[in-house]
Amino acid sequence: MGKIVAANWKMNLRRQSGCELASALKTDGRECWLFPSFTLLAPIADTLIGGTLKLGAQDLSPELDGAFTGDVSAEMLGDAGCTMVLVGHSERRHGHGEQGELLLRKLKRAAEAGLKPLYCVGETLEEREAGRAKEVVKEHLSVLKDLQGTCAAVAYEPVWAIGTGLTATPEQAAEMHAFIRDELTKLGLTDLPILYGGSVKPGNAKDLMTQPHVDGVLVGGASLKLDSLRAIDDVAREIG
Ligand code: PEP
Repeated sequence: MGKIVAANWKMNLRRQSGCELASALKTDGRECWLFPSFTLLAPIADTLIGGTLKLGAQDLSPELDGAFTGDVSAEMLGDAGCTMVLVGHSERRHGHGEQGELLLRKLKRAAEAGLKPLYCVGETLEEREAGRAKEVVKEHLSVLKDLQGTCAAVAYEPVWAIGTGLTATPEQAAEMHAFIRDELTKLGLTDLPILYGGSVKPGNAKDLMTQPHVDGVLVGGASLKLDSLRAIDDVAREIG
């Protein structure tokens, strides 16, 4: 498999801008994984039919169906055209207090509904400065032990690099990706791709994606503009 490019649009774009971006990527023949907001999923799914782009949601409910106002179930996401879902993004872990048991329930629910999670892990600046980065990432990964074969990939996203303009150096990314590769091997998840996320831009994509065990990138801010997303995808294709 070549390098993977995944786009997390967070709470951005509207029906027209999202569909235009998706349809331009489809026309280019790109193979990105797109994670738009809930309201854009169904219209974008219609845009993507017949192409190679994959569609995912940014979150899901751990529940099946019922009285959970404001939540969206895994089955609803499948019904809207998703095949993937983000779980454990730092903006959910830190903005909404999601962790351990809840994330495991979400991962299991996604798998039961046939959705492939992109599971995000990563330490805060405080944890890194306290020398705890690997311990934290190991703990985040530990929920995968009972989930053989259900995830699409893991994304290493140091919290201090998300949306801040700070990026892990290629050496920092390489060190953590090698660690994650070892931990996944111990969990029996030898083939799971590991993406890097955190202020990836056209200018740093090559240095990051050429590091060992960096199988692709998860891009936030730079995925909202066609030019920058194309440029990052061009780097991914060039490396192959
Ligand atoms: C993200 O939201 O997963 C992310 C990596 O964002 P950004 O690229 O903007 O740092």
